[in-house]
Amino acid sequence: MSGDRIPTSILSRNPALLKLDLYCKGARLDESCYIEGDGGRKILRTRAGLGSGLELILPGGLWTNVPVTEPFAQRSPYQIHRTPGGYFVRHDGEDVAQVQLSPRPEWYDSQTETGKPMTRIGTLQGTYLGIYQAKVCEYWTGPKKSNCKFCSVGLNLGVDDANEKSVSEVMEVVRRARDESGITYVDFNTGHYDGDTYLDILEPYLVRIKKELGLLVGFQTPPHRDLRRYDALREMGLNRVSFCFEIFDRDTFKDVCPGKDKEYGLDYYLEAVRYCAALGRKGPRHEPWVTNGEIIAGLEPPESSIRAIDWVTSMGAIPTVCVFRPLVGTDLQDAEPPKTSEMVPVFRRLYEACMERGLPIGCAPNVHVSLVMLPEECRALSPRRFPVHRMKLAAMATAFRYQFRRRTERASAQAHAS
Ligand code: SF4
Repeated sequence: MSGDRIPTSILSRNPALLKLDLYCKGARLDESCYIEGDGGRKILRTRAGLGSGLELILPGGLWTNVPVTEPFAQRSPYQIHRTPGGYFVRHDGEDVAQVQLSPRPEWYDSQTETGKPMTRIGTLQGTYLGIYQAKVCEYWTGPKKSNCKFCSVGLNLGVDDANEKSVSEVMEVVRRARDESGITYVDFNTGHYDGDTYLDILEPYLVRIKKELGLLVGFQTPPHRDLRRYDALREMGLNRVSFCFEIFDRDTFKDVCPGKDKEYGLDYYLEAVRYCAALGRKGPRHEPWVTNGEIIAGLEPPESSIRAIDWVTSMGAIPTVCVFRPLVGTDLQDAEPPKTSEMVPVFRRLYEACMERGLPIGCAPNVHVSLVMLPEECRALSPRRFPVHRMKLAAMATAFRYQFRRRTERASAQAHAS
């Protein structure tokens, strides 16, 4: 690797490295591309504050979301081409991989019974359904704006997302996504609301989805001030909680996330991760439980991201690591995206730390995530093999699939009977 340029021959043999390099460098869309006409997904601006981009499937079944609208992507060595044989990613003018467009489902063109476009209720992110619930994060409103500097939620809400989403509207979209896109997991994401109302807002959706469909459900919200609320949610069948503390370095956290710093503080985010990770030992055994601590790599030194990964995994939680994307219109729009060479050690550590701690990665049925590198996808970045834990993970994945099938069949049978 010279500088941050990776030889095309290496990229074409390592789709995980390609996925990571595309996050860092983005790609230019050649004029030959006809994304929506070829059944691909529209480039939406809202991704719960994380990014915009083109949804693609790389070799090896790696789903991704490639930056294409930001200025840095216009300087990228990557270009996406359409040929009679399909879509190709080219790197420095050479084909590096044939890719598929992530399929645009028919329900994307439908409306709810109340007349709202279904994509304003939820969108597919990889193979799961992501729903940014309720009104805009209150760090964006009020007399003293204190939004996270990388975030675009307050710029875009009301453009790509609907402000009000009733339980029945959400259920309509979840059903269509399950029937037509085969989703197994629904992820709800909220910002901060005064009075810590986010869990109260989300609970009715959890109850209905579990009762009527039995799908996996996760919440990504700020850490509720009463942590016992998570015991109750675990009992109700919630499968995942995710706390986005974003940055482990305290000074950078204060600077980049002023609202989170003032309202909760980094220590409280970490306490929520610790508390919820311990709930894995409680609650219904047939419902898998995962606690995620989410960080954005590229906003602090790689060593600090690695310290965050080591801390989160030491608690029995699984890190979610995004690659910083300087989104147009955000406070950090002029910042540079991180260098791939600095990101490789971070994502290698993500895989190795999860494996060393024996964490259950890659076990959920049919969950492919486009916005981040999943820990199991980073295997190709590490020379270490972990044969014993890999065998355990394969057994866990089989058990999860079986439990999931039973749960969804039971929910359907009950829904038909009532
Ligand atoms: S908490 Fe920060 S990242 Fe989340 S929606 Fe609010 S401003 Fe955006």
